[in-house]
Amino acid sequence: MQRFARVLIAAAVLLAPCDIWPQPAPKLAEGLAVLPHVTITVLVDNMVTDNRLLGEWGLAMLIETGTRRVLFDTGRGRVLMENARALNVDLSKLDAIVISHGHDDHMGGLAKSFDVAGKVDLYLHPAAFGTTYWKEESRAVPRTMSMSREQLAARAGRLVETKGPALVTDGIMVTGGIPRITDFEDTGITTKAFVDEAMKTPDPIADDQALFFRTPEGVVVVLGCGHAGCVFR
Ligand SMILES: [Zn+2]
Repeated sequence: MQRFARVLIAAAVLLAPCDIWPQPAPKLAEGLAVLPHVTITVLVDNMVTDNRLLGEWGLAMLIETGTRRVLFDTGRGRVLMENARALNVDLSKLDAIVISHGHDDHMGGLAKSFDVAGKVDLYLHPAAFGTTYWKEESRAVPRTMSMSREQLAARAGRLVETKGPALVTDGIMVTGGIPRITDFEDTGITTKAFVDEAMKTPDPIADDQALFFRTPEGVVVVLGCGHAGCVFR
């Protein structure tokens, strides 16, 4: 999927209430201040058109509101710092890091980000700590995140495990776990990622979460891979 398609502007956020969403998302957004100016800088992407930058299979974006700076994902880890330098982006002063989900191409640059930013707060869903079995030819290859819960807790200011919605910093929220309320969307990788070694049950990627904030034009939802789907109601 093109990365720019993952940044969506909508008059109201998706999703109906359910047990992990205490109230409908538009109600959550109503409580947020409207941010007059927000800049999103794509630091890692699959494709680049600027010859100062390097591409890799992964995603990282810096979201700046004028007073707050949030790093959303960290790419696979090979090009984040180089691209930040090329764009004169200072990653030493962050208010928070939010990880959309625990796949390598979104959190591979996390250790380097802590090296630069120091003890910054980290937001991720607890399901990110689980094991996923990836189908490689006919084999099931188990993978977990490259950093354990204990390692992350030691490096982060606060490790915030976002089962549900949470305020990240002024005007910026993270969805936490996203309810799956339709039967026409799946994770996009149901034939590749499984919760069991027998590769019978696709991984629901329960850790998938998105950022959102309000602007004068409406609510902006920033997705990682969008494994949970994206439905407007
Ligand atoms: Zn993914």
